Amino acid sequence: MKLFRFMLKGKEHYGVLEDVELRLIEGDVFGEWRKTEKKVKLWEAGLMAPVSPSKVVALGLNYRDHAREMGMKIPEEPILFLKPSTSVIGPNDPILYPAGDITKRVDYEAELGIVIGKRCRDVKAAEAHDVILGYTCVNDVTARDLQAKDGQWTRAKSFDTFCPIGPCIETELDTANRKVQAVLNGKVVQDSSTQELVFDVPHIVEEVSRVMTLLPGDVIATGTPPGVGPMKPGDTITIHVEGIGRLTNPVKPVRPPEEND
Ligand code: MG
Repeated sequence: MKLFRFMLKGKEHYGVLEDVELRLIEGDVFGEWRKTEKKVKLWEAGLMAPVSPSKVVALGLNYRDHAREMGMKIPEEPILFLKPSTSVIGPNDPILYPAGDITKRVDYEAELGIVIGKRCRDVKAAEAHDVILGYTCVNDVTARDLQAKDGQWTRAKSFDTFCPIGPCIETELDTANRKVQAVLNGKVVQDSSTQELVFDVPHIVEEVSRVMTLLPGDVIATGTPPGVGPMKPGDTITIHVEGIGRLTNPVKPVRPPEEND
């Protein structure tokens, strides 16, 4: 089942995809809900990020083929970092290229995202599926030069708009062997599979929840495969995870301050 969040006549809704239509639901998407009789065409709905996470937890170097590409050792423990909730945007929203000379290289990173469905802590891998609502696509946009310069990743990963999420939550994905791709201006630039994950989905949930309480709507970005590279204003980037869908965002310059109100 694919759950979409969208705006309709100024109100926020969730809907279940039925062919090319969204059937509106009522209730709490993280609890009890039911389908209504109302439907809207997918292309008439203003899609939003499928959740508003309290935090986005992300993993570094979690693909064997990416670690090889970077000449790095495969990590024995997961490398965790955070992206702020204020970096989250939805499908078709612009990724804003930072103004001035603060960064000269902004990269895409195609990732499978885990959407948490329940407040949880110390979840064992075998029970991870009980706390997962579903899966989505994440673009872990990264100012690569700042990542190297700072020695830690907060600035590199945290600019406003640096975390596109969507287009939906797929609640029934088998994550064992899914294609993960990035497509820049129509050209496939990342093309791998979740088979290459160092830590798989259940172990990621176990490891992250050993550290912090996860809340409904929190997202875990599971790491990126080889082929990361830069984007420029005017580009269009699409993240595709097989079985979920396509998350597309244009890259635009930040508007001059006088146009910002
Ligand atoms: Mg990443």
